[in-house]
Order: sequence, then structure tokens, then C-alpha cells
Amino acid sequence: MADSTIYLEMLKNLPGRVRISESMKKHTSWRIGGPADIFVEPANREELRLAVSHANEREIPLTIIGAGTNILVSDEGIRGVVVKVGRGLDRIFLDDNMIIAESGASLSRVAAVARDAGLGGFEFSAGIPGNIGGAVVMNAGANGFSIGARVKEILLLNQAGCFLKKTKDEMNFGYRSSALQNDFSIVIEAVFSCFQRDKETIKQEMEVFIKRRKETQPLHYPSAGSIFKNPPGDTAGRLIEAAGLKGERVGDAQISTLHANFIINLGAASARDIMMLVEKARKSVLEFFGIELKPEVKVVGY
Ligand SMILES: Cc1cc2nc3c(=O)[nH]c(=O)nc-3n(C[C@H](O)[C@H](O)[C@H](O)COP(=O)(O)OP(=O)(O)OC[C@H]3O[C@@H](n4cnc5c(N)ncnc54)[C@H](O)[C@@H]3O)c2cc1C
Repeated sequence: MADSTIYLEMLKNLPGRVRISESMKKHTSWRIGGPADIFVEPANREELRLAVSHANEREIPLTIIGAGTNILVSDEGIRGVVVKVGRGLDRIFLDDNMIIAESGASLSRVAAVARDAGLGGFEFSAGIPGNIGGAVVMNAGANGFSIGARVKEILLLNQAGCFLKKTKDEMNFGYRSSALQNDFSIVIEAVFSCFQRDKETIKQEMEVFIKRRKETQPLHYPSAGSIFKNPPGDTAGRLIEAAGLKGERVGDAQISTLHANFIINLGAASARDIMMLVEKARKSVLEFFGIELKPEVKVVGY
């Protein structure tokens, strides 16, 4: 448990925004995870900066999350301070063909704003859950496109508590990866370049993508989307299915019978159950096909 003085200090400076021993089940799409020692939901940039500097000054571990749709939080929870970037840091602005979105804005809201303004470029994201910060860090994508391609510039808060800008080139975007995955910086805001496009065409394209998701993904169960990245020239889902693991269970965790790269929580799955299934899928695919699958989901708190 983190030093209680930091909790009291944060409580004084960020009233109403700090909770102690907060269950991470409430903050992950998998509905899994033990307690965070200290959980902070900043209402604005200054509160975020304060929370980061309080933790850093005392060398208390700091974890940043967005909507929690791509993380597996351990059953033991997270030591130190967890900062959730969401409400309060979720404004979206339009500037000609550019969209400026704070990192707590949901990707789906940004896509809807783009659509309604007749701006193309976010159609691919229809149906991807999560917030802009997480999407940029993960370089979220689907349908042959990813968010990095739209990025013009990012505003970050670094560990020293300073705001700085980075260009797209400095972000090193790759398949579900970015420079931010190896760097402690918090995404505050992103500027995206879009282009003029007919609203109705955008709407129709997004509807097609959403329909396809509903048909192919187990959206009625808690999950974190795809567990593994697709290896070159193949898909993780096809390989796991071919290894005979569709429907495989450990406790309440199950490899989806609809999409084998999804592990769903049937009710009371633990992080340990999920990890055991992930390991089983990884080992089986390696044994059967000689292909080493790499996880896409980030494990937090182990
Ligand atoms: C049903 C379902 C379908 C999905 N489909 C897709 C898909 O098609 N394509 C795809 O790419 N993903 C998909 N995902 C995964 C997920 O939605 C995306 O990766 C999403 O962009 C993650 O955003 P988040 O806010 O939930 O991030 P989180 O899960 O909260 O965090 C992800 C990572 O980003 C870091 N992070 C979050 N916010 C910030 C910030 N402001 N600053 C710095 N670091 C930060 C966290 O520390 C963590 O390492 C799916 C998930 C689900 C549940």
C-alpha cells in the first residue's frame, strides 16, 4: 500500500477526485482486476499535472489508463497511483480539416464529430472502444487503417511534469505500436489531419464496419478485443482456432467460440485464468505452427 501521506495530500489538492483501494474491475472492459492503492480521475490538465508530480516527487509508481479496454490488471491490483484520463480531459475542437481531441475523449465520439462535420479519415475506427490517449499509444486500427496515419502532432506531459509537443515522425507508429509504449509520457491532446468527404458516404462506411464487428466479435461479453497481434501474413484468430482452442476454458475465462483471438469473461474470470489461457494459446500455436504470437493487450500490476 502506498504511503498514506500521499493519499491525504492528493485528497487535499484534488478534492472528490481521489479514491483509495479502488477496484479496477470498474475500470476495465474485461471487468477484471484487483484494487489500485490510490486512484485519481483528474478533472483537467492542471489536476493531472499535480497528480503526476505528487507521485513522482515521492517516487511512487504511477500507472496511466484510459478507458481500460486494452489492459489486463492483475488480481493483486496495482501498487501506487493510478491516473485515469477520461472525463474532464475530453474536449474536441474542429479547425478546418483538423480535429483536435483531448486524450480522454472517446475514439467513437471523435469519429462521430468527424462524420457530422463531413471529415473523412476516422471511418476505420467505427466500433473500436477506448479513448484517444490509449488509441494513440496503441496505434489502434482496423480495416486496413490505424490512428497513427491521421496524427499530425501530439501534446504530452512528461515525467518531469513538462508539457511538450511531438510530431507524427517522432511517434514511430507501427502495427499496434508507438514510441510511447517505451517511454513514460502522458498523452494530453492529439491533432489529427482529416479530409473533406461526403457525410452520407462516411456514415454508410461506418455502419458497414460496425455491422461486421457485430457479426464476427463476441460483443455481449466483457473482453479486451484481440489478445494477440496478427503475425505477418496470417491472423492470430485463425491460428488459435486451427490449434483447436475455440471454446477452451480456464475458470470463467473462455476463448470465444465466435472469434478465437478474443478471450471473454463469462462472469467471474480472474486475471490468472486469462493469463493461463493466453499462455495455452501461445504455446499451442508455437507447437503446431512454429509461430510465436505476441500479445497486444498490456498487462498491468504484475
Ligand atoms: C470489443 C473490443 C474491440 C476492440 N477492437 C479493436 C480494434 O479493432 N483495433 C484496435 O486497435 N484495438 C481494439 N480494441 C482494443 C482497444 O479498444 C484499443 O487499443 C484502445 O485504443 C485502447 O484505448 P483505452 O483508452 O481503453 O486504453 P487503455 O486500455 O486504458 O490503455 C492502453 C495502453 O495505453 C496507455 N494509455 C492510455 N491512455 C494514456 C494516455 N492518455 N497517455 C499515455 N498512456 C496512455 C496505458 O498505460 C496502456 O498501456 C478493442 C477492444 C475491445 C474491448
